[in-house]
Amino acid sequence: TLLDTPPAVRGVLETVVARNPHEPEFLQAVHEVLESIAPVLDAHPQFVDAGILERLVEPERQIMFRVPWVDDDGRLQVNRGFRVQFSSVLGPYKGGLRFHPSVNLSIIKFLGFEQIFKNALTGQGIGGAKGGSDFDPHGRSDAEIMRFCQSFMSELYRHLGEHTDVPAGDIGVGAREIGYLFGQYRKITNRHESGMFTGKGVQWGGAEVRTEATGYGAVYFAQEMLAVHGESLEGKRVGVSGSGNVAIYAIDKAYQLGATPVTASDSSGYVVDDAGIDLALLRQVKEVDRTRISAYAAQRPGARFVEDARPWEVAVDIAIPSATQNELGADDARALIANGVRAVAEGANMPSTPEAIELFQSAGVLFGPGKAANAGGVATSALEMSQNAARQRWTFADSEAKLRSIMQGVHRAAFDAAERYGRPGDYVVGANSASFERIAHAMLA
Ligand code: GLU
Repeated sequence: TLLDTPPAVRGVLETVVARNPHEPEFLQAVHEVLESIAPVLDAHPQFVDAGILERLVEPERQIMFRVPWVDDDGRLQVNRGFRVQFSSVLGPYKGGLRFHPSVNLSIIKFLGFEQIFKNALTGQGIGGAKGGSDFDPHGRSDAEIMRFCQSFMSELYRHLGEHTDVPAGDIGVGAREIGYLFGQYRKITNRHESGMFTGKGVQWGGAEVRTEATGYGAVYFAQEMLAVHGESLEGKRVGVSGSGNVAIYAIDKAYQLGATPVTASDSSGYVVDDAGIDLALLRQVKEVDRTRISAYAAQRPGARFVEDARPWEVAVDIAIPSATQNELGADDARALIANGVRAVAEGANMPSTPEAIELFQSAGVLFGPGKAANAGGVATSALEMSQNAARQRWTFADSEAKLRSIMQGVHRAAFDAAERYGRPGDYVVGANSASFERIAHAMLA
């Protein structure tokens, strides 16, 4: 594909490939952005002259560190910690922490790179970063999770701060982990610095709707894409993957808007429930019992568990992939299209492969990329930072209304940029162009 890429972009891509040879996820994310912004560069030669692209693809700072901790058997364990502070041009570094055995530098860099654009799209004045560890929380006791989090923060704290770098959760980092991490920061620094972490519990500086925000936002984004064509979620069958924080609240909001969510999944397989996912049972299985999703089907008459498979073979009108990167490939996209899918809104980061995106777009499926569709989480984090700075707490209703209007703004920015650059309805081009314009102008200034 490099042959039809403009020379300004091609040179940068070649450098990125040469410099990061073992980072497929990072290269995938960079390719997707750079190949879609050629029209923006044509319209703004000053961006090329100032070397904006060369600068943008290199993180401002990358931190890797040792995380030693002692397990319940008294054995020493060592994990690797990461924080990639990618861009602070629009505000303090902002982005989640992921604890998952798959975590490596490539994955953190892809997530950090995506985060720059996502955060710019929200219009909230936050830079882009990501961090995490290859620590596997699965099967670990509360005490082990606590010791791991304390050790992780004992190193990372020196790089954080409400005006410097503000982490949040991501896969494997929820309310429990954020409590341990924030508590350790507070002890080490002797500061109750609320604005240095988002996703906190509402009793100690957290914001209403932050927990719900990513899932709610992804459904709002789907609603906006449909509304352009005079359609709605009412009566639609929705396919959701994942069963974490994003999936659970996507299911919740889909119900509120009159749709029927029929699937959920984890790494062991998926469940399909034609009567509609029983949200209380799903939460019991995943949040309280912390067990495999097959337990859902075992307790729910009419539901079926399909082992080692993804839910995309189930016929749905709307798909909301909310598990992890590259979870929806070309065959999955073909199956969804054959079954008449109308819209895809990405709740996870980069869940669709480039081939799947291409298939959706050429079939006329409305496709909302993660950096637009899942921006509601980080946007609400920015609202949490505002409340912390003002020592205020807004109501659930106010915060939900703000989230809704931010998601309308994100959709509008992506939609308008796609029209402006001659690719109407292409939310990939639209989201990348609208956010790149904001970032590049700020870098130039
Ligand atoms: N991990 C979320 C994301 O991928 C949220 C980040 C945040 O709130 O800082 O956008």
